[in-house]
Amino acid sequence: MTKDPMNTQILDVAIIGGGFAGIGAAIRLKQKGIGDFAIFERGTSIGGTWRDNTYPGAACDIPSRLYSYGFAPNPNWSHTYSGSNEILGYIESMATQFGLHRHFRFGHNITGIAFDEDAGVWDISVEGRADIVRARTVVLASGPLANASLPRIPGIEDYQGHKIHSARWDHDYDFTGKKVAVVGTGASAVQIIPELVDKAASVKVFQRTPGWVLPRINRQTSPLTKELYRRVPAAESLSRAAWFYGHESVALGVVWNTPLTRVVEMVGRAQLRRQVKDPWLRRQLTPEFRAGCKRLLMTDDYYPALQRDNCKLVTWPIARISERGIRTAEGIEHQADCIVFATGFEVSKAGTPIPIVGRDGRVLATEWQRGAFAYKSIAVSGYPNLFFTFGPNSGPGHNSALVYMEAQINYLVEAISTILDRDLRMLDVRRERQDEYNAAIQRRLDSTTWNSGCRSWYLTEDGFNATMYPGFATQYVGQLRTVELDDYQVVPITAQRTAPRIVVNS
Ligand code: NAP
Repeated sequence: MTKDPMNTQILDVAIIGGGFAGIGAAIRLKQKGIGDFAIFERGTSIGGTWRDNTYPGAACDIPSRLYSYGFAPNPNWSHTYSGSNEILGYIESMATQFGLHRHFRFGHNITGIAFDEDAGVWDISVEGRADIVRARTVVLASGPLANASLPRIPGIEDYQGHKIHSARWDHDYDFTGKKVAVVGTGASAVQIIPELVDKAASVKVFQRTPGWVLPRINRQTSPLTKELYRRVPAAESLSRAAWFYGHESVALGVVWNTPLTRVVEMVGRAQLRRQVKDPWLRRQLTPEFRAGCKRLLMTDDYYPALQRDNCKLVTWPIARISERGIRTAEGIEHQADCIVFATGFEVSKAGTPIPIVGRDGRVLATEWQRGAFAYKSIAVSGYPNLFFTFGPNSGPGHNSALVYMEAQINYLVEAISTILDRDLRMLDVRRERQDEYNAAIQRRLDSTTWNSGCRSWYLTEDGFNATMYPGFATQYVGQLRTVELDDYQVVPITAQRTAPRIVVNS
């Protein structure tokens, strides 16, 4: 820990967010011998999205063997696809195993960061605190899906029943015997609905767009297999590699709009035919966009749940929400004791979760107004010593987000270690490298399924894709193997400012 002339302590690293990414970054920093960091978490406990998404049925649709860090293998996963409790347990066990608890600053909601170019230090504002935190480097690990959003449906405020958002589940609410409406049929909804039909008197599912549903074969891990993975870690790694390359091959049909996309769609149609016998319902559930354009829905339970006697699919558009339920466009009021909104998240249009002010007063939200961009999804020119996890164009459509995250973390830890070891004032990515990189990304996105014409949270309202990475995970990971210093302006702490301060965005 260093101090500035005002005697304020300066952290080596401030990590914003205590979910998977923040914890992964903290572990790798420690392993690199960097211990002077704090993890700022606005909540009161760790786990990010897996702390927040506790709805019944919450699980990951990527196999646990792959939805975990390579540097923290877990031989004990109970199932191929483990539930949210187990995933949260894994995150907590990593925090304990790597001694991270003392680094956490809970209840610290970061409201903005600004770069002090003279000092080469980020000033970090915390809600409700007059003093600022200072840090030489910042890791922004706040996650793209942290802010649950209720949809802007007219009348939503008038509703007198109980409202629950999928990411803020109310575990005290007893669904037994209740009339329940579910709005949304995305990745969260298809996990919730099978659980609700078991409890509620009736469940009405309000679908706007049917998605592609593919089988998810979930098996229990036998005690023998767990024992093998405990005793022979190489066997666990081999299994992880098999899952990895299996998912990589799927990219050919899911990432790019190719003849193989038709094969993925055939699998989806076969699942629909097998599980739904009523032709009219089948038609209502048939997607009209290319598979992969929106997130694939991996579930074996969703279609059967929809056909239970107490469940009904409503495909009329929602006109408004009334005091007692949901009114659809043809004029029917569907009364409900509770409305479950599985309607996704507020993904900031500009992509900056907090105000970020860089060199010469430039404001990232202004630069990102037409869509976010970064160099290799991690660094943005003009915002030195700041590193994003899950930044622009880093989203996978076919593989584990944690594979991408691990590569980002390894890269940013190397960059941070360079800044600290060489005592740099700034490591600032060169604008031209960033522009070249993004021009190529946007060109490659043209032939992907995500840009093939459907509405999803991957795209801005103008159709700009600042979310997904158009390639194999292997390519994404490969480009992050080393920090090429040629890509950056490298400024030692001893170097004086050469240019006068210019305010780019006032
Ligand atoms: P989502 O994919 O954004 O789905 C939201 C659903 O709500 C969609 O069906 C959407 O319909 C509907 N909706 C939104 N606003 C509406 C409105 N005003 N009226 C009617 N319907 C409305 O949200 P999510 O299911 O919570 O998933 C978000 C992301 O979280 C996923 O893409 C995935 O990345 C992640 N996730 C992952 C897992 C996992 O297992 N790994 C599980 C859950 C979530 P439209 O389709 O017509 O827009």
